[in-house]
Amino acid sequence: MTDHPKSFADLGLREEILAAITEAGYTEPTPIQAQAIPRILERRDVVGVAQTGTGKTASFTLPMLQILAAGRTRARMPRSLILSPTRELATQTARNFEIYGKNLRLTMALLIGGVGMGDQERVLEKGVDVLIATPGRLLDWFERGKVLLGGVEILVIDEADRMLDMGFIPDVERIVGLLLRRQQTLLFSATMPKEVRRLADKFLRDPVTIEVAPPERKAELVEDVFVPADPHRKRDALLRLIETQDVGTAMIFCNTKREVSGLARFLARKGLNARDIHGDLDQSVRQATLDAFGRGEITFLVATDVAARGLDITDMPVVINFDVPHTPDDYVHRIGRTGRAGRKGRAFTLVTPADGRAVAAIERQTGRTIPRLPILPAAAPEGEAEGAAAGSPRRRAAKRSEAPRTEAARAERAPRVARGRAAAARKRPAVTREAPAEEPVTAFGSHVPRFLLRPAPVKVVAKTGAE
Ligand code: AMP
Repeated sequence: MTDHPKSFADLGLREEILAAITEAGYTEPTPIQAQAIPRILERRDVVGVAQTGTGKTASFTLPMLQILAAGRTRARMPRSLILSPTRELATQTARNFEIYGKNLRLTMALLIGGVGMGDQERVLEKGVDVLIATPGRLLDWFERGKVLLGGVEILVIDEADRMLDMGFIPDVERIVGLLLRRQQTLLFSATMPKEVRRLADKFLRDPVTIEVAPPERKAELVEDVFVPADPHRKRDALLRLIETQDVGTAMIFCNTKREVSGLARFLARKGLNARDIHGDLDQSVRQATLDAFGRGEITFLVATDVAARGLDITDMPVVINFDVPHTPDDYVHRIGRTGRAGRKGRAFTLVTPADGRAVAAIERQTGRTIPRLPILPAAAPEGEAEGAAAGSPRRRAAKRSEAPRTEAARAERAPRVARGRAAAARKRPAVTREAPAEEPVTAFGSHVPRFLLRPAPVKVVAKTGAE
């Protein structure tokens, strides 16, 4: 709808900044940069609806450098303030200021947990152009009189929806209340839940809203569900999932190498053609595994994120997250392995009560409520299933009470699935019996945390671990 400048020079950035951008290797502005930079330079307030990976950090860093290059610092009064929900994001943002500001003489301080505070105190005392902080840490310093907020000309609230997830909105509101309210305010958020919208309405003046598409929209063909699991019986839950959902071929992700190896061995013991792939294995072993996977001799590939990143496996029918990934980006990458080339894919994520925060973050970033798929905890004990005739009462009961199949499950009947099922049937997984077969319960029995059952986004207000 707007004209898209082709180069950074078209955006009105000065030479020193353009040189740093070139040196960083960027030739063209991303859509959020092309749209946001000119408006920020005009000193407009901006709401940027954009997630990580769109180039949103540079979209505010670059014009801020330009604005700040004109002007001088005052002792203990930062001229700009960037509020980040986590230290990782704060550090990454600081890195952006360093890279793009290398030809300018601007100063910066970083107020986050775990950074040597003596240095930061000295820098702040002299006065900084850029202060990057997590909200709690900043308030702490403010209360101790080490920083004054009356000189802030530009305020950035970054990843506002994540601030919300982490329960930081009250802190953010307090901080904005401490400013003189004459500043230019930029708010970035991957999604716009109503609490974030309210924040924008309260603190921004006549903002320009710029919305860009997520960098990869490949998840659209993926039917993804969360599967509640008992943390002590995740392996059983996985077997049950494979069985009830007719999973014949899948890539299974764990968060650690150790878990990857252990799980692959476990699945192999249960008669599935499973193998692990992770960074500690020889390149030749990994290649052999991949080749075997390509030929269909291995049907369950258990991997870490890092190992998987280097693999050119693009069209998996099913992805299973044995562990909830640490970040929403990892989630999107993992499930992006399936649902390609116009074919529908399925992604299952085992979630336990401890995963509340990660689940909330994934739902915020993807902007969707991911359905919960309760699975029955119990399969028929070993031996019994093989002997049971298909028409026996027990069998019929088990069939009736099977977890609801997803649409894609019905549609997907690839030859590999048949092979996988045959292998699974040869040695039926020995899953512990926990509840009568017809009772539609999850693996938790009666102790099911609400967030696992109710298909509603969770608001987690715990503050631990962020700062
Ligand atoms: P962000 O969305 O800010 O997390 O940035 C995502 C990634 O895109 C980072 O690794 C940046 O270094 C990179 N990036 C930022 N701007 C550009 C650009 N104009 N061209 C190519 N890559 C970029």
